[in-house]
Amino acid sequence: MKNNKIIILGAGVGGLTTAIALCQKGFQNIKIYERRNTATTIGAGIVLWANATKILGKLKLLEEIEKVGGKISEMQRLTEKNKILGAINVNEIDEKIGSPSIAISRKDLQEILLEKIKISNIEIKYNHKAIEIKNKSVFFDNNESVFADIIIGADGRMNSVARKYVNGNNKPVYQNFVNWIGILESDEPIFTENSVLDFWGCGERFGIVPINKFKGYWAGAKSLPLNSPYRNEDNKDILIKIFGNWSSKIGSIIKLTKSENIKYIEVFDHNPITNWNKENVCLIGDAAHSALPTSGQGACQAIEDAFHFSNLLASENKLENAFQKFQKLRFEKTTIITMAGRDFAKSLFNTDKEFCEQRNIQAQNTNYQNSSVGIAELWSKNIPN
Ligand SMILES: Cc1cc2nc3c(=O)[nH]c(=O)nc-3n(C[C@H](O)[C@H](O)[C@H](O)COP(=O)(O)OP(=O)(O)OC[C@H]3O[C@@H](n4cnc5c(N)ncnc54)[C@H](O)[C@@H]3O)c2cc1C
Repeated sequence: MKNNKIIILGAGVGGLTTAIALCQKGFQNIKIYERRNTATTIGAGIVLWANATKILGKLKLLEEIEKVGGKISEMQRLTEKNKILGAINVNEIDEKIGSPSIAISRKDLQEILLEKIKISNIEIKYNHKAIEIKNKSVFFDNNESVFADIIIGADGRMNSVARKYVNGNNKPVYQNFVNWIGILESDEPIFTENSVLDFWGCGERFGIVPINKFKGYWAGAKSLPLNSPYRNEDNKDILIKIFGNWSSKIGSIIKLTKSENIKYIEVFDHNPITNWNKENVCLIGDAAHSALPTSGQGACQAIEDAFHFSNLLASENKLENAFQKFQKLRFEKTTIITMAGRDFAKSLFNTDKEFCEQRNIQAQNTNYQNSSVGIAELWSKNIPN
């Protein structure tokens, strides 16, 4: 299969990492098709948890990532007024998996992936929005079409053409909350290095992720219906209105963030599906299994997909077998992560005061040592040493 013509739809984390992994396995005829006109980034930052960095190490990308990212050592849970509810020791998870957890800006991660794509001589065709897959070919909105032996659908969660082809339905599910995401590079040392701060309100949440003392990203979240009037308001004003009387750190971070670096996102995921392939098309990343940001694992799972998919394509003689084994290997883990993300979101965005009080008491009584063990067990599943 090494000489097969492979096309990848989507130059996101999943598409780029898959191209790099396939190239390292000796596949030579790979092209990426991206609907955007340039390699713009969506989103503020990302934590590459130990399961993802372990894979990135195998793909020889970790060294570059460590240069610009920041190590995460713990995740603190707090009330909106700064009372500590508990903390997950991320170092313990990292030790068990054998790799560091690293926060990085999306822009930096994308630049590292794009540099590797460039030196691997993989072409990205921008301004190519796939509109249909038919007869083993992809048709684009610029009237071009391309035949391929293998089509990899890495075209994300919101309107994946590949998912529509494979599954018939590609409609994501709104999960009744919105995120305002922001990235901040400050002159002041405003971030607490190595510690993710996760503030819980009632139906509202604010998370702060440091990359270093001066740079980090954040997400404010609130339970809201689709198309709420909030979407038309000034992001900063509305954030100050919602979170202004929470911990003073939050207010400072919002105020210091430039308006153009704040984005409002209505948050969707997908119901798990048991069929990720049809004929010569295989789904990966969010197109196959998109988990909520509350899972923390969306991009990490896309990276795992890239690794396993390329290994199977290299080791199997028949395309059908590679596709089937890939889905078999990945379905359970990604489904557990998707459902855990939903459960956590249901708890965080519940607006009932009594429920929230009980939830916080439970958080205080949690055995975080056991939590680390449980998380490490799930995240390390199918990650080779
Ligand atoms: C608010 C928010 C915060 C998040 N935070 C985290 C986090 O901290 N950690 C984490 O691991 N995950 C996080 N995620 C999830 C993560 O962003 C995704 O899981 C990850 O980006 C999936 O990668 P992907 O390549 O599959 O899809 P995407 O990154 O969405 O890439 C899809 C690409 O396909 C292109 N495309 C789409 N349609 C077409 C088409 N028709 N033709 C051609 N190209 C097309 C898009 O332009 C895009 O470039 C977050 C998600 C959200 C919404």
